[in-house]
Amino acid sequence: MSKINFETAGEQTRAIHAGETPEAGVKSSAPDIVMSTTFLADPNTGFSAEAQDENTAWVYTRWGNPTIHQLEEKLAVLEQGETAVAFASGMGAITALLFHTLKAGDHLLISDVTYAALTEMVNEYIPKLNIEVTKVDTSDLELVRRAVQPNTKLIYIETPCNPLLRLTDIEAVAQIARSADAKLAVDSTFATPLATRPLSLGADFVIHSLTKYLGGHGDALGGAIIGSNANLAALRKKTALRLGGILSPFNAWLIMRGLATFPIRMRAHEENALKVAVFLEQHPKIKRVLYPGLPSHPQYKLAKRQMRNFSGMITFQIENGAAKVSPFAESLNLIHYAVSLGHHRTLVFYLGSKDLLETTFHFDTAAQKESWNRFAGEGLFRLSVGLEDANDVIADLAQALEKI
Ligand code: PLP
Repeated sequence: MSKINFETAGEQTRAIHAGETPEAGVKSSAPDIVMSTTFLADPNTGFSAEAQDENTAWVYTRWGNPTIHQLEEKLAVLEQGETAVAFASGMGAITALLFHTLKAGDHLLISDVTYAALTEMVNEYIPKLNIEVTKVDTSDLELVRRAVQPNTKLIYIETPCNPLLRLTDIEAVAQIARSADAKLAVDSTFATPLATRPLSLGADFVIHSLTKYLGGHGDALGGAIIGSNANLAALRKKTALRLGGILSPFNAWLIMRGLATFPIRMRAHEENALKVAVFLEQHPKIKRVLYPGLPSHPQYKLAKRQMRNFSGMITFQIENGAAKVSPFAESLNLIHYAVSLGHHRTLVFYLGSKDLLETTFHFDTAAQKESWNRFAGEGLFRLSVGLEDANDVIADLAQALEKI
């Protein structure tokens, strides 16, 4: 057992040491990877995970695994939650959460802009289960309040949301959820626990795509839900291990390795992103820059209150952007034109409004369209500023912008 008091230890100490209990026999200093899918069982072990409790030894990796468990412990400490459940991807975590918290006849109140695959699942799949869905711009608290119904069981927000970098006031929505007797889930992938601790602001569940900042190196997909023992024990036993989207122990190990440097990386992401955002804001070819750490962000006041670190995500708009994508992308020397985010490499990708409004974000009201336009215009370049030297990233952007 670790002798470190993680309640009082600093951020970086927790990132390195939490969850990492050396195995009794081997005494490795770094975590061992346990790839075994099954474990020698006590003859009294039941065949169903229903018979499992916290005292059950390792039985089968889909039920639980020492390496995955170490990662879960580290995540719980970093988010200041009681426990965590890891999944094969962020979408795996989100699917398990929706299946666990909702049933036919319930109502899901969700942000009208979330990571695209989730919005698409909520458009097409969730209504087939006879679960009612209302999508609202959750940055407008009055809209959230008005959308609550007697059967609302889950309010789901993403802040800052992908791709708009629009924020939602977690504490205020948590109060709405509490008075409606609904649970609140917050996707905090863009913020990370260095910036925001949704559980301390009243959320019931925190979701992460570990594929992004927490893993940090673009080489392992993963996801997690963090929360209280009461909320997550049944989710693990009844839903996660039956749906089966379990993280590979190898990926758990890679993500843990990334997590050890996560606070240092986030500070460097923020430092670089601010320099890049200031450069872009002054560039004559750039129409609009959004970064929560810039005073020009429409929710800068909320960003300062809710985020202790502004992370590394920037969006920028260029006049007639869709036509400029190819020459811009082809001119890049250092920055990768690629989806995903939160890696040590800088990544950029264009998201056209016309495409996304046809495929994914089907808005019902003029106010929703207006909010999208306010943040995205006709389309945005989503820039995930990495950990290269900021001057090199800026120089690459400068020379690519010259070619368009
Ligand atoms: N949540 C957010 C905010 C994301 O940006 C993503 C992916 O980009 C996901 C969830 C899904 O994560 P994954 O790709 O690990 O399934």
